[in-house]
Amino acid sequence: MKKYIQEIIDTGNNIYNKNLISGKSGNISSRINAASGDIIAITPTLKSLAGLKAEDIVLIDLDGNILSDGKPSSEVNMHLEIYKKRDDVNAIVHTHSPYATGFAFSDKKIKRLEGFGEIKKPYLPSIEYEKPGSSELAESASKGIGDSDVLVLKNHGVICVGENLKEAESLAVFVEESAKTQFITFMLNSVEDI
Ligand SMILES: [Zn+2]
Repeated sequence: MKKYIQEIIDTGNNIYNKNLISGKSGNISSRINAASGDIIAITPTLKSLAGLKAEDIVLIDLDGNILSDGKPSSEVNMHLEIYKKRDDVNAIVHTHSPYATGFAFSDKKIKRLEGFGEIKKPYLPSIEYEKPGSSELAESASKGIGDSDVLVLKNHGVICVGENLKEAESLAVFVEESAKTQFITFMLNSVEDI
């Protein structure tokens, strides 16, 4: 259990230092296969993900029952619905990273650049806007992600999932880099040669 909690703390610090989150935004969780059933460790509500302590991490079961002190992230239902639908997912990182979220607020989609694995579709999947923290968002996100490892939330941010937190974190970094590269390309294409 300690190992999983430490991984969440480390991931919070990493994505903060890489400017994928700021203030109190973003949330992270991981699934722990316990003998008594799956336990989800998740970041708390209303706290910066930078500098979290072990006692800040909240433990819940798949039905959302709280098994420790503290109050889980307001997006707890979005995490739970994805875990319920996807046996292969053991970690979720949700950010409002600026370039990817800029795309989410625009009418432009983020292209799948090399590094996303097998290219099945040219663009990252996305879902229409639902209120953050709502059961509608949880339902729509868990459906919309399908078998993908990334989902863009319209006018909101990005969800990255993986077999473990390292995977989900590196995907969040890669999605942001991809969006940044595409943004720079759009900008360069829009100016005349000097
Ligand atoms: Zn969010």
